[in-house]
Amino acid sequence: MSDGPRLYNTLSKRVEPLTPGPDGVIGIYVCGPTVYGPIHVGNARPYIVFSVLKRYLTRRGHAVRLVSNLTDINDKIYTAARAEGVASTALAERYGREYIADTDRLELGRPDAEPLVTEHLPEIIGLIERLIDRDLAYEAGGDVYFRVDRFPPYGRLSGRRIDEMVASDPGEHKQHPLDFALWKHRKPDEDAWWDSPWGQGRPGWHIECSAMAEATLGHNFCVHGGGLDLIFPHHENEIAQSEGASGQPMAQIWAHNEMIELGGKMSKSDGNIVLLRDALDRWGRDVILVFTLRTHYRSKLPLSDAGLQDAANQVETLRNAARALRRAAAAPGDTLNEELAEAVVVARTAFVTALDDDFNTPRAFAAVFELVRAINRALEVEARPNGGQLAAVTAELAQLLDMLGLAGLMNEDVVPDDLMEMARARDAARAARDFGEADRLRDLIEGAGFVVRDTPDGPEVTPA
Ligand SMILES: [Zn+2]
Repeated sequence: MSDGPRLYNTLSKRVEPLTPGPDGVIGIYVCGPTVYGPIHVGNARPYIVFSVLKRYLTRRGHAVRLVSNLTDINDKIYTAARAEGVASTALAERYGREYIADTDRLELGRPDAEPLVTEHLPEIIGLIERLIDRDLAYEAGGDVYFRVDRFPPYGRLSGRRIDEMVASDPGEHKQHPLDFALWKHRKPDEDAWWDSPWGQGRPGWHIECSAMAEATLGHNFCVHGGGLDLIFPHHENEIAQSEGASGQPMAQIWAHNEMIELGGKMSKSDGNIVLLRDALDRWGRDVILVFTLRTHYRSKLPLSDAGLQDAANQVETLRNAARALRRAAAAPGDTLNEELAEAVVVARTAFVTALDDDFNTPRAFAAVFELVRAINRALEVEARPNGGQLAAVTAELAQLLDMLGLAGLMNEDVVPDDLMEMARARDAARAARDFGEADRLRDLIEGAGFVVRDTPDGPEVTPA
């Protein structure tokens, strides 16, 4: 068995153990979305990875506090609000609500806290004041900038050297081109602003996460996560702000998920953006979860119909195994199948070892499918497993799937929406005397492991 959960740390470039804080809690902060439009599939990856990581750690007996912010003050929000002709605060509120509604459909529960920037202005302003007191920041022309050359560890996370960096953020009043904004003075075309000791304006992007992470998790919490694209400058700047102000490490482990690669062949996409809600409508949450988790979080994940179809096939394999176990339990044998008993032990060990080792979900899935193959073999032989063994195997498979957020595959006798739709389309095809189409749809429904019957109340779909 393993020594406990470990994750790859971008800062040390090593896989390191997760150490709970003095309160015994594993604190995890993940940078959340900027809410200026509907969430796309790419932004769902950190949500899924860190929600399932929390679920796994909790199931393993750890206390976990997961925090993920919503960025509701941002240039992109002002721009989108102007384009839609609405107030920027109203736009951010609306897309914040839609983000919650869309990610709720993944059925992974909410993070323990989802702080908003607009609700943390006092903490943000207080943090900026501490940085000014420590001479790590200065006010200039209504803006406040972080003084990068006063923080020698700057560049440690991203592996960059200050003298090699190129400034990305223009600012008229900067003393050094790499200094970055903590506070920006109010511009004439910005319809939302806040009062501060430096006049009206709004926080820069990076400072919000330093302030909200400290407010919710304190210093030196266990894991700071987010997409790989946030390492520089966002996370580099968070470290400079938090550690500059407190003199303590911000987080122990910096965990970054790779990006979802768009541009693969997709039947329904708007430009290069695929919305999470569209993907959920088409494939359902089980498929989206399996698709996301069967690739390691530190590997690129190409988004394509073929990849999603593969995931759908795997979901079906798991459902079929659960159905086969239910059928077998209705008519058990009297054998204890040694090979199956062994497979259960092997699967549990391999599963836990994989997830403890840098949250290796593809290896965890491989362990589950190994167990499914053993189940299918055991149910094919003449001497059927006895009732006790079937119950134990069913419970074990359910537990492993539950740790991945997929326990629902076990107790499914609910007919998926898309199959009900096919059954209604088949009815319509028959009414239109298009029997070829009706037969095609019936074959699709049966191929998914269901049968369709005609009743006076319309079609009825049941598991085969
Ligand atoms: Zn952040």
